[in-house]
Amino acid sequence: MEEFCVACRSLGLTERIALFLRHREKESSLQSVSSSVFGQCFGDVNDWANAKRYVLNSSELDGLVIEVFRNFTRSQRYSLYARTKLGYLFYKRQMKKARERYPHGHSIPQPVMFNGVKILPIPVLSNNYSYLVIDTHSSAAAAIDPSDPLAVQAAIEQEGVTLEAILCTHKHWDHSGGNMALRRRYGSCRVYGSACDAIPELTNPLSDKETVTVGQLRFKALFTPGHTVGHMVYLLDGKPFEGPACLFSGDLLFLSGCGRIFEGTPETMLASLDTAADLAEDTLLWPGHEYALDCLTFASLLELENPVLEQKLQWANQQRLEKRSTCPSTIGEEKEYNPFLRTHCWELHRALGLQRLRGEDWDSFRARVLKEVRHRKDLYKAN
Ligand SMILES: [Zn+2]
Repeated sequence: MEEFCVACRSLGLTERIALFLRHREKESSLQSVSSSVFGQCFGDVNDWANAKRYVLNSSELDGLVIEVFRNFTRSQRYSLYARTKLGYLFYKRQMKKARERYPHGHSIPQPVMFNGVKILPIPVLSNNYSYLVIDTHSSAAAAIDPSDPLAVQAAIEQEGVTLEAILCTHKHWDHSGGNMALRRRYGSCRVYGSACDAIPELTNPLSDKETVTVGQLRFKALFTPGHTVGHMVYLLDGKPFEGPACLFSGDLLFLSGCGRIFEGTPETMLASLDTAADLAEDTLLWPGHEYALDCLTFASLLELENPVLEQKLQWANQQRLEKRSTCPSTIGEEKEYNPFLRTHCWELHRALGLQRLRGEDWDSFRARVLKEVRHRKDLYKAN
């Protein structure tokens, strides 16, 4: 270890990261690469103990990130983001930049009220949504994916509610990065999520179909791996409020899109998307990102003659011109235009030039369709 660290000091940034990665691969557990090891490897660049000061004051992280992007494969970059403190530093940097660029949030949120429940989207970072779900009778509230703790705290104070629970869809910093600060601020607040996903500050690990109760609010956790190994979505029961159910879908499902398949196979992701597609048509979809315009434009390049899609794209264009949020849509709507929920549609098969092979299992074929759509979307995004 000592040698490793000494060697690091005499090398450039790229080599240091490569060495760090190689060292990490030897560890039995990703968590076992301690912050002190990271600090030693990058000691003069970004000492973990001084991370906060460093992130706020140094321009070197930008250089480091540029190096990472230039020199590493996608899976290595992902590994750095999801599994090392470098990802956390990157997230802190993103948050600082977004707060400067969008002092009032990237979009104008449109809260929804039913009889006894209020859902407040909180635009955070450059395109994420956190949500505050409030039981208006008891003022108990749950926060979904509170990535910017200050923005979520401001909403809690403005609404005058008590934060009882954080429901975290997955471990990525842009969804879980605020857990620590909010737990520090609201000591009694519970943190829910999958035990498989290394969610910071997790206090109540959940398994598939478990229920979380906050005041009169009842959420059902649904296990939806693919984007990460432990991704979960949360379904708020609308019956007590005489309203529709609400799905907080994290990075599983977006308006006309789905999350990247970082930690699973197309088959895994398909099963998770089917879980969402099987919900009631009037279920409101509250996604983790404001990606509507990008996703609808991509979908319209795939399916050229889909009037519902055309109409939604026009509407989204108008909304975004006015900086208005595009959520929620409904599961019923999504099935009309979201290509990731249309793997069964021959129009999509034709557009992709894919045919079911003789003897090919139907779900295997749909997984192949999903893989192709995801691949094209990744390429589209890269251009
Ligand atoms: Zn994610």
